[in-house]
Amino acid sequence: MAEQQIANLDVQLLKRKLRITQTPCDTTAIVDQRELKAFCSNDYLGLANHQLLVRALGEGAEQYGVGSGASHLISGHSIAHDLLEKKLASFQSAHIPDTRALFFSTGYLANLTAITGLARLAEQGGASIYSAKLNHASIIDGVRLASAQSKAAVTLFDHQQLDLLIESLKSDSHPLKIIVLDGVFSMDGDLAPIKELVQIANDYDALLLVDDAHGFGVLGKHGHGILEMFAIHSERIIYIGTLGKAAGVSGAFICAPSIFIEWLIQKGRPYIYSTATPPAIAHTLLQSLEIIEGDEGVTRRHQLNRLIEIWHKEMNFSCWEKVVSFTPIQPVILGSNASALAAAKLLDEAGYWIPAIRPPTVPAGSARLRITFSANHSIEDLRELIATLKIIEQKVESEK
Ligand SMILES: *Cc1c(COP(=O)(O)O)cnc(C)c1O
Repeated sequence: MAEQQIANLDVQLLKRKLRITQTPCDTTAIVDQRELKAFCSNDYLGLANHQLLVRALGEGAEQYGVGSGASHLISGHSIAHDLLEKKLASFQSAHIPDTRALFFSTGYLANLTAITGLARLAEQGGASIYSAKLNHASIIDGVRLASAQSKAAVTLFDHQQLDLLIESLKSDSHPLKIIVLDGVFSMDGDLAPIKELVQIANDYDALLLVDDAHGFGVLGKHGHGILEMFAIHSERIIYIGTLGKAAGVSGAFICAPSIFIEWLIQKGRPYIYSTATPPAIAHTLLQSLEIIEGDEGVTRRHQLNRLIEIWHKEMNFSCWEKVVSFTPIQPVILGSNASALAAAKLLDEAGYWIPAIRPPTVPAGSARLRITFSANHSIEDLRELIATLKIIEQKVESEK
């Protein structure tokens, strides 16, 4: 059965392939013995191979060993985790009153925990979840699990048509309402209309869960994320950030008024039943947060913004479609899986690593190249990419 299913994927041009890198994550990579210029990672600030962080990981291992040995509630919660959580909370303290942070091994786990855990605040069937249609898979799975475990009602909404969300909320009598969405949409790079959503959450007595996986470290003067960027202050916000993207390491966190964090520690099953991340990782992340917040972080975000500006000024396609995005995620929509794969192959031959993103990661008919910038890219790197993309567009379109 599996053979047939995989053959079907192949026929539809939907079969995915692993590629093995032999180098640290950076703007160049050796993949299958060839050096490629990489515009595909989420290491937006270029910290994944930063020498201070490499050193911090070694120090962390010296100090704490390599494993945590148990889940947080048994014996795995180290002083390194505690220090990290306090620092993470300080990043959001101007935006969420009485904020406390909870550290997770992955963003996937943080989303599962936040959504299922919060839904359990209401009696069975008492929660109503509003989830944006283009949300990340880990939110979708969290919502599905909450629906199965707690009989939460689920409504999907379009984050660009909030009037429809308001209409649904008006007639919703569930005692607990939760709105959940990406802060930066991972495949389009656009931002959640956060100010309007906070207002809606206030008007309809809802919680607002924002997954800022692609905004944390990148948005806001100090890199604190989308809440800093829009100067949001609300006791209704549950903020989720991940630490394997701009922060360059691994892990994730939930920041919320402390009473919600206390509840998730009691009832968040994916948190409770999973081994704590090695404390050395938490120790490394403390160093990463210092870079993000300090002058070097400011300089790195400035470089990203220059790259984004040049991209919009100088990248003109005749057929392909650029998306309006002011984040380091710059998708180019080609439409068919075949075109996206052809373009990715030509880019590979030209020495670039930019994968084709196909359904179900993106809606059918919107296959794309997902180009991402890193602060380690130079302006020259970007200009070379722009010139290459123009040539490849002509080739792919003329061979259609
Ligand atoms: C990457 C991502 C996650 C998952 O985070 P991991 O730490 O990689 O598990 C969650 N939400 C969004 C929007 C993401 O892009």
